[in-house]
Amino acid sequence: MEYLRLRGIGVSPGIVLGEVVLADRILFSPRKEYVPPHRVQEELDRLKNAVDRARKEISGIKAQVRDMVGEEHAFIFDAHLLILDDPALAAGLRRLIREENVRTESALAEMHEHYRRLFEAISDEYIRQRQADVTDVLTRIHRNLDAGNDKVAAEDLRGKILVAHDLLPSEAATRLSQGGVLAVVLDQGGPTSHVAILARSLDIPTVVGLHDITQRVNAHDQLIVDGTDGEVIINPPLMVRKEFQSKRAKYEVYRQELRRVATWASVTLDGVRFIPMANIELPEEIGHALSYGAEGVGLFRSEFIYLQRTTLPTEEEHFEIYDRLAREASPRPVYIRTIDIGGEKALPQLKIEAEPNPALGLRAIRFSLRNRELFRIQIRAILRASVQGNVRVIIPMITEMEEIGEIRDLFAEVRQELSAQGKAFDPAVPVGIMIEVPAAAAISDLLAREVDFFSIGTNDLLQYYLAVDRSNEHVSYLYKPLHPAALRLLKHVFISASRYGKDVALCGEMAADPLLAIVLLGLGLRTFSMNPIFIPRVKKALRAVEARTVRRVVNQAMNLRSAQEVEEFVIEKLLPKYPDAFLMTGPTK
Ligand code: PEP
Ligand code: MG
Repeated sequence: MEYLRLRGIGVSPGIVLGEVVLADRILFSPRKEYVPPHRVQEELDRLKNAVDRARKEISGIKAQVRDMVGEEHAFIFDAHLLILDDPALAAGLRRLIREENVRTESALAEMHEHYRRLFEAISDEYIRQRQADVTDVLTRIHRNLDAGNDKVAAEDLRGKILVAHDLLPSEAATRLSQGGVLAVVLDQGGPTSHVAILARSLDIPTVVGLHDITQRVNAHDQLIVDGTDGEVIINPPLMVRKEFQSKRAKYEVYRQELRRVATWASVTLDGVRFIPMANIELPEEIGHALSYGAEGVGLFRSEFIYLQRTTLPTEEEHFEIYDRLAREASPRPVYIRTIDIGGEKALPQLKIEAEPNPALGLRAIRFSLRNRELFRIQIRAILRASVQGNVRVIIPMITEMEEIGEIRDLFAEVRQELSAQGKAFDPAVPVGIMIEVPAAAAISDLLAREVDFFSIGTNDLLQYYLAVDRSNEHVSYLYKPLHPAALRLLKHVFISASRYGKDVALCGEMAADPLLAIVLLGLGLRTFSMNPIFIPRVKKALRAVEARTVRRVVNQAMNLRSAQEVEEFVIEKLLPKYPDAFLMTGPTK
């Protein structure tokens, strides 16, 4: 057992020691597993049962999708049924099991590889893309192999470290929300990818961007995962384990300190009130968020309602979630963002056509306006939950004024419909927009007249403005929130909002970094929404500075030439005066 230390990007703090489970081995592993001849029939039965279950699932989803959004989305599932029942596929799988005595999992992996090579050789881009459908169907068969035995799969991850090449947001949502996962380690990913965000919300130490750790570890290896420093240690010897114990003890002390800070008032040294809020993905997180000192939910990423399930949620199911959020947070505000589907968040239930450039594709509000029935269901549910009086709606990915007009019309229709049905709602529920497309930031002066508030999504805003893919570890070094271009753009948004008396919140990961939060305070931000675990340290930093001094320093820093110059300048000017603001970076960076 080889001892090895690897560096990646720590995206969710905490340090743990545990045993590896290799997620990619579960699906389509190249390592072949065999069964003795007398178990061949058993394998053939497993395959048949799994295919039957998969067929039932696909037919069910197809019917549901057709009822809710029409035939044009449902036809994809016909293609899946055709693939599933393709005689060549079935014969190939059975041959592998019967003649080579491999386990069904290995037969599926071999067929997957066979089709991958076949599709790779096709020059037509559209047809090549269809490989995703084959993968989807084979994955579904695979997942159904042990159906009825879900508990085994769930328990497998409990107390273990999940090591994978990458996790789709839907996979992350299902696997991590089961609870009990000790840590997550990925070859790919960046700090603002959705896996990272979810891991932070669920308090699971996570290191991403390790390139090839899936090739370097074996199942059952021992691993130390240090999500704070971004280090992963494979099979640590005794000495290193001792180091780990003392590091973990220090981290625990630090955590307790954070809990204490959570109860302190949110005011700067010169008495300026600021509001820390929580970004959450699952309603279960709300108690956890409040315990870290969140003064409301600044961003509820409602797409996770879809990502966690295989069927489409009904209006009642939406309503139950929003109602629960509003009640549990009450009287604190809850900002519910309408679904941000597309981009890296695919919606398995709808089988959205693969797009060549999903981050620039049919995402978020673009998707919702194209799928009005789904959108209408969500708006009805949010408005119904608004009777609690603390609900606000955020619309993601606004790019142009025309979208505001369409949304306004749709809201008016839904309000009328609800009134006609005698259903209660808050007629004054504030509707705001995400500023996360640079074009929206540039016309924020026009948008500010039309909407109730802004919520700045710096994860996407910087991704698009600096042309840095937020999930690509190769370019994450360019992801610089203190880039003078970013500061100028943000300043423009704050000025626009204040000219029309509109509130601005910021819910990108930028708000969670103490130094960046101080800079944002200087730019005029008062509502900071972030992953709840970061609230105490941001609070501690902001309490330790005077808003008026920070404002002056940041105004000067705007004229500097690079992110590094800005950072050095801000630290140099503020550190001697407010040393406490820089003390809390502690073990969570
Ligand atoms: C953002 O883009 O900054 C944001 C908060 O939204 P998400 O991370 O869900 O894209
Ligand atoms: Mg976004």
